Amino acid sequence: MSDENKAKNFLGIMFECCNVYGRIYKNKEGTFYQGRCPRCMREIKIRVGEGGTSQRFFKAY
Ligand SMILES: [Zn+2]
Repeated sequence: MSDENKAKNFLGIMFECCNVYGRIYKNKEGTFYQGRCPRCMREIKIRVGEGGTSQRFFKAY
């Protein structure tokens, strides 16, 4: 329905725990980006939206 949702179904992220870059994907509801650090498998969850659209890179701690 919304182009915005189609364009951004993943997020580039720097996993600070291991200094490794990866991607996390939107959940079914489109409310969170969820994923795991490729190295240590730490889970991360970031809320979608709320004006943070210009910020495409996040850090996991
Ligand atoms: Zn890690």
